Amino acid sequence: MFRERVSEDIYVFTSEMYAQATAGAVVSAEGAVVIDTLAFPVETQEIKDFLEKQVGTTVRYVINTHYHADHTNGNCFFTHAQVIGHKLCRELMDTVGRSGLERAQAEASDLAGVKVVLPTILLDEAPIYLHLGKKTLQIFPTPGHTADSVSVLFKEDRILFAGDMMMPVPYIVDGDPDDMVRSLQALPSMGLENVVQGHGEVILRGEIDEAVKSAVKYLDIARRKVDQAVKRRKPRESLREISIEACGKPRIALSGVVTKLHTANLLSLYDRMTK
Ligand SMILES: [Zn+2]
Repeated sequence: MFRERVSEDIYVFTSEMYAQATAGAVVSAEGAVVIDTLAFPVETQEIKDFLEKQVGTTVRYVINTHYHADHTNGNCFFTHAQVIGHKLCRELMDTVGRSGLERAQAEASDLAGVKVVLPTILLDEAPIYLHLGKKTLQIFPTPGHTADSVSVLFKEDRILFAGDMMMPVPYIVDGDPDDMVRSLQALPSMGLENVVQGHGEVILRGEIDEAVKSAVKYLDIARRKVDQAVKRRKPRESLREISIEACGKPRIALSGVVTKLHTANLLSLYDRMTK
């Protein structure tokens, strides 16, 4: 796991085991808040050790940006924390989250000890606020990657933890492309210093507009290409020939995982258009 400080008392942790997934933390005199936990227990344990042993604080809250296992598997290790998430996040973790974890644990021994811990402080359409020391955290819905996606804004620092709304390639298989575009387009006017992506490197102030534009453009091109294929009655499998570069994104990000995400995007867009 890789750790960096993005602002006074705000940290970002990046997984070296799973698709550069990120987690975050803010430390105050009143305790700490963790934003997302990592897929594998060893890495979440490293975050916990850093905060509790090195910094010497207690984690009071864990915020889940959405229900996917690579962001929630570590909830169970923060035994004294209350978990915050979207109402739908709780429902999805309680159903598909539980069955997914069972399947994953049957395959991977390094997930031993992971238990589903559901959010108990919930938001729906309206934002909720958390005050901790001198920091104000605004937690608000940003659907698109999934229906339960939320982002966390540090109001004073202007740092946004965007969850998987922001990734090197937008991933909408479990979500909705129109919602995604709406969520993304709200970012440029927010006056942000940094955007912490759900996967990949932190986006700096001068790069945010371009990152949003590029994500929206990718979705637009991908949709047009799939639409064309559907109109020409091309078989579903032919979509695999549409490269990620042809949709305006490089194939190198997240150690190449983006090409798999891209193909899955195309196939899911096809299924949406043909059902
Ligand atoms: Zn993710």
